Amino acid sequence: MNVKKFIFFIFPFITFSQTYKNGEWTGSEHTPQTQQQELKIEKKEILRKSVSKIKDGQKWFGELILFEDSTAKWVSWTPQEIETSREILKIKSDTMKIFNEYWSTTKLFPYKKQNLQNLKDTILIDLEVSGSFYCSPSNKVNSPFGWRYRRQHHGVDTHGKEGDTLRAAFDGKVRFSGYNDGGYGHLIIIRHFNGLETYYAHQSKRISQAGDIVKAGDVIGLMGETGRADGPHLHFEMRYYDQAFNPENLIDIKNQKIKDKFKVIGKNGEESYIYPLSKKDFSYIKKNNSKKYHTVKKGETLGYLGQKYYGEAYNGAQKIMKLNKLKSDIIHPGQKLRVK
Ligand SMILES: [Zn+2]
Repeated sequence: MNVKKFIFFIFPFITFSQTYKNGEWTGSEHTPQTQQQELKIEKKEILRKSVSKIKDGQKWFGELILFEDSTAKWVSWTPQEIETSREILKIKSDTMKIFNEYWSTTKLFPYKKQNLQNLKDTILIDLEVSGSFYCSPSNKVNSPFGWRYRRQHHGVDTHGKEGDTLRAAFDGKVRFSGYNDGGYGHLIIIRHFNGLETYYAHQSKRISQAGDIVKAGDVIGLMGETGRADGPHLHFEMRYYDQAFNPENLIDIKNQKIKDKFKVIGKNGEESYIYPLSKKDFSYIKKNNSKKYHTVKKGETLGYLGQKYYGEAYNGAQKIMKLNKLKSDIIHPGQKLRVK
């Protein structure tokens, strides 16, 4: 097993082995060591990763150090170190157009309406512009992106427990942190350096504020079921210019990583991930717009509707049955059916 593979194998177990319960962290914990003790340990470091966590209701920043014997240690940073680690990103975000144009800390969708279904060019999204990518805390999808209960489900629901740690997917700046009455509940929106925005909904507790610079993997909140949610889960959205697309187009949620096919190997063997965003990602919008519904009136039969919408009573009725997953051909007045 090469080192990189090994890290990806071992890393999720370490980072997510801690759970937040009743205001306490459980699981593996770093025990502070004296300098002398540290000197005695001559284990080879294989990776240092900046991460944050919450303890006693407070956000802590630090570094997770992985050693070759697969043990790990978490070392907290001083306020000065925290400042420094975000300084470059802060300067970058202050000067980048995407953080100054269409920026709103109160509106969910601040961009001017863009018709991305007719996007001519492919937009190359750098998925690891600086830092890595963090997948949602769980690899189990409760409900995918797509058409659901007569409306578009604009995100992926991933399974989890109340209080599970939610982390920023990429480096970026928190644009919105607030309660949304429209169904999202406690919601955090992060705008990333790669131009994407990610939405994290139904949180039980928001930990980041609008304006915060976050690094990939930073704790931003805790999983919950606020808003329109049936049990605790993360509703995760990915948007470009306000327009949602399926996060699973690029994320392999089961294996908690960006899909291998988007890996690009540079001249010196360095790996990066680039996603070619195109109109294909938004073709669902056109499909949804062409969806049509009919409320059954007295005396109407499936055959009648088949004739009306497809010009063929039998075949049309079959299509309508399939669209509505009907088991019998009996319909009732007042019943709402999808006909296209
Ligand atoms: Zn959802």
